[in-house]
Amino acid sequence: METRLSDRGKGRLVVISAPSGTGKSTVCRIIGSREPDVALSVSYTTRKPRGRERDGIEYHFIDDATFDRMIAEGKFLEWAEVHTQRYGSGREETEKLIFAGQDVLFDIDVQGGRQIGQAIEAAVLIFLLPPSIDELVCRLSKRNTESESEIRRRLKVAVWELEQGQSYDYHVINDDLDDAVEAVEQIRKEIRKDPAKRGEMLDSLIRQARERFDETV
Ligand code: ADP
Ligand code: 5GP
Repeated sequence: METRLSDRGKGRLVVISAPSGTGKSTVCRIIGSREPDVALSVSYTTRKPRGRERDGIEYHFIDDATFDRMIAEGKFLEWAEVHTQRYGSGREETEKLIFAGQDVLFDIDVQGGRQIGQAIEAAVLIFLLPPSIDELVCRLSKRNTESESEIRRRLKVAVWELEQGQSYDYHVINDDLDDAVEAVEQIRKEIRKDPAKRGEMLDSLIRQARERFDETV
C-alpha cells in the first residue's frame, strides 16, 4: 500500500501538524473549501464530538472496540494516542483520493506525521508555528473548547511537539492567516521557502515554551 501510494499515486499526501491552538484545522479547512484538487482526510477518533461536530464530517466518531478492530485489520495509514484519545487516518479512503488525483491534507499530530513520513517518501510534512507562545496561549483559550486544565496539559505537550517539528520538511508561521494559507499552498505547489529562518524561529519558540510550561527542563 505504501509503495503504491508513493510510486503510482497521482495526488500528494500533505501533512499539517502543529501544537494544539496554532490554527492547523483553520488553515486546512480554508484550503479544503477553496481548492477543488484538495481533499481533507477525515480521521477516526475515540473522542466524543464537541459542539457542532458531525459524524463523518469533522471526524468519524467510533468507540474503543471499533478502533481496536480497525488497527487489527490494518485499516489505518497511521494512528496515535493524542491528548488521551486515539486518532487514525483511514488507509482505503486515502488511497481512493490519491488515485483519483486529489491531494490529501492531513490535520494530524507529530506522531502520525512521523509515521506517514517514514512510510511514504513522497509525502510532504509541513509544521505550522504560532507567531509567539503568548499568542498560542491566547488562541487556545479564546477557542473555548477545552477546560483550563486541558489547556494547561496541551501547552505542556506543545514543548515536545515543537521539538518534533524540527524534523518536518517545511515550517510555516501562522501569524496572518491569509499568508499562512498562501505559504502552505505554495509548498503544496512545490515552491520552497527559506528554511534557515524557520529553523531559527523554531529554536526560539522551543526555548520560550520550555521556560513557560515544562518545569522538568
Ligand atoms: P488547531 O487546529 O491547531 O488546534 P484551530 O484551527 O482550532 O487550531 O485554531 C485555534 C484558534 O485560533 C481558533 O479560534 C482559530 O479561529 C484561531 N486562529 C487560527 N489561525 C489564526 C490566525 N492566523 N490569527 C488569529 N487567530 C487564528
Ligand atoms: P482535536 O481533538 O483537538 O480535534 O485533535 C487533537 C489532536 O489530534 C490534533 O493535534 C489533531 O491534529 C490530532 N489528530 C486528528 N486526527 C488525527 C489522526 O488521524 N491521526 C493523528 N496521529 N492525529 C490526529
